[in-house]
Amino acid sequence: MKQLKKIAVECKNIGLSYDGGKTEVLKDITLRIEPGEFFALLGPSGSGKSTLLRLIAGFNQHQRGQLLVDGKDITGVPPYARNIGMVFQSYALWPHMTIWDNVAFGLVERRVDKATVKQKVGAALELVGLAQYANRRPNQLSGGQQQRVALARTIVIEPQVLLLDEPLSNLDKKLRVQMREELRSLQRTLGITTVFVTHDQEEAMTTADRMAVMDKGIVQQLGTPAALFDYPANPFVANFVGTTNLLAGEIDQINGDTVRFRAQGIGDITLPKHPDVRAGKMAISFRPHTVKMQVGDSVRDGAYLWLNGAVEHTEFLGEFTRYRVRVGDSLVTADQAHFSGMTPFAESAAVRLGVDATQIRYLAV
Ligand code: ADP
Repeated sequence: MKQLKKIAVECKNIGLSYDGGKTEVLKDITLRIEPGEFFALLGPSGSGKSTLLRLIAGFNQHQRGQLLVDGKDITGVPPYARNIGMVFQSYALWPHMTIWDNVAFGLVERRVDKATVKQKVGAALELVGLAQYANRRPNQLSGGQQQRVALARTIVIEPQVLLLDEPLSNLDKKLRVQMREELRSLQRTLGITTVFVTHDQEEAMTTADRMAVMDKGIVQQLGTPAALFDYPANPFVANFVGTTNLLAGEIDQINGDTVRFRAQGIGDITLPKHPDVRAGKMAISFRPHTVKMQVGDSVRDGAYLWLNGAVEHTEFLGEFTRYRVRVGDSLVTADQAHFSGMTPFAESAAVRLGVDATQIRYLAV
């Protein structure tokens, strides 16, 4: 199949309420999805992701703001006139039709001539690797294959934008990983602007060029997966994108190069000063894999913040061991890479945790 025209999708101050304004589900959503981008909407259940996706498709209407596709405001344009393709979680294939007829459906409905239908359906099935299954019915295919039929059926109409609503959640873990790679490569081949809704941060991070993390109808942060992981804007994003340690407290002294952080239930910690650091309540965040663990205090390294604790719980995950270490009133998570022959830290062992100072983030609370 040929590359499709790459177009932008823009939401400007979009607000949407149900129940005549009582339940505000989307609050002032502003974001721009770049032409040809693979964009993920990531957030917990109920955060408004599907509502936003269905709004782009035309199934939901917003009360405030603008929706621009390829620079044109399409607010009020009905779904069938939008030229937007959507793949649903349930695939929604016609059970009584062959795979070929399922894929051809949208073209036949649009009264495309027979020769073109044949050529386009053939190319779409080829693209998703299902040409040899054209005469089967959906229930004669595996879940992953049905998902590919749903994709072929959507892209065959050459939509301007491809919308994917949790398309992999009905598949088992291994197939999900394989399908997300396929999705990504298909999207690259076609160059189509794609919006992908998921509650699975790993799925969003592995597929998306950029993503928006949503909570309570608000875009909490927007950026590349690495930027969101490395520089979360607030405690919600820090917790939702990857795993993190969050220590609440207050900065009560700012000195030359250091600040004093009074961590709740831990005590005073001296931390390196950061340009945006302010006195007052805040949380510090650091990832479990950036924490070094050792017994005793033989090595003291100035680039690390050292905390004393006791191992409370151990989880062996193969590549690494996840330790929950009691530090004062808090439990700190520390992931230690695992290699065969290593002796793990015992439960209740007294340990020192070294937190790489360059990896500590200050978050407003
Ligand atoms: P997500 O996709 O992130 O799980 P949704 O967009 O489906 O979230 O839902 C966002 C919120 O809107 C939820 O609180 C949900 O209960 C509410 N909601 C969704 N559809 C309707 C509807 N038709 N009427 C009223 N409330 C709705």
